[in-house]
Amino acid sequence: MIIPDSNQQIKSFKISIPLIKTVVIVAFSIIMAATISLVYFGKTTAYLYTVIAEKDKKIAQLTSLKEEQDKKIATLDKNAQLVNEKIKSLDELEEKVRRMVGLSTSTPSRGNVSRDIRGESNISYDNETTAELISEIDQKTQNLQDLISKVAARLDYLNSIPSVYPVYGTTTSSFGTRKSPFRYGSEFHPGIDISVPVGTPVKAAGKGVVTYAGWLSGYGNVVIIDHGYGIQSVYGHNSQILVKVGQSVKRGDIIAKSGNTGRSTGPHVHFEIRVNGNPVDPMKYLAKGN
Ligand SMILES: [Zn+2]
Repeated sequence: MIIPDSNQQIKSFKISIPLIKTVVIVAFSIIMAATISLVYFGKTTAYLYTVIAEKDKKIAQLTSLKEEQDKKIATLDKNAQLVNEKIKSLDELEEKVRRMVGLSTSTPSRGNVSRDIRGESNISYDNETTAELISEIDQKTQNLQDLISKVAARLDYLNSIPSVYPVYGTTTSSFGTRKSPFRYGSEFHPGIDISVPVGTPVKAAGKGVVTYAGWLSGYGNVVIIDHGYGIQSVYGHNSQILVKVGQSVKRGDIIAKSGNTGRSTGPHVHFEIRVNGNPVDPMKYLAKGN
């Protein structure tokens, strides 16, 4: 029964008990379903929040890892640049050594490796660049080993050539055609004459092996040293010979005492340099050593 305002009629209608039961059951079921759904939704939401929080944490970790790795990459790039700079300074050192011993500067083309000096911007730690740097270092090592043998050979040559005066005195006669001190006319003088008192120590002008030590017509008591490289030096008119054939001598070793033996007009050392058997102006070699 429904009772509206006082002016209107009372409405009445019947509802059966089974209908009420059904309505109650349906309503209860709906409420239960809604409650279960809400609980489930709540749990799912909570779970999703956990997952999101974990992902956020992971992202933070990865971000910090990336920053760390970026730093490491920057360090590696810097190291690669340092290595490149070191290679450049090795190049400079190599050139310095070459200049010091009078070797020609290195050839620009050396196999497949690019010899261009890399700009700093091109240097990174990446595999290609690292491989190239390693290859450069290998090449450099090879070059330095080559240089060492060349320097050793060069030093041997420089130690060997007769480049210092055997005695210090007045040069009384130079190399070449001169007026003969013994007869009328001119003659070829194959060396230089250095005037010194009898008994002055005569020194080897360079490293070598004595190939002659004895009397030779004209030269008197003479010592001949073979310096290798086709070069020989001759020391004439000695009063005394202090070395034997086959003896190795160093530059500056005393090989004789000066004198006035053989075809000589006064006490002096006749100093001669022969290249492949032919006398050359000793001044060319002495100028190198003095
Ligand atoms: Zn002479």
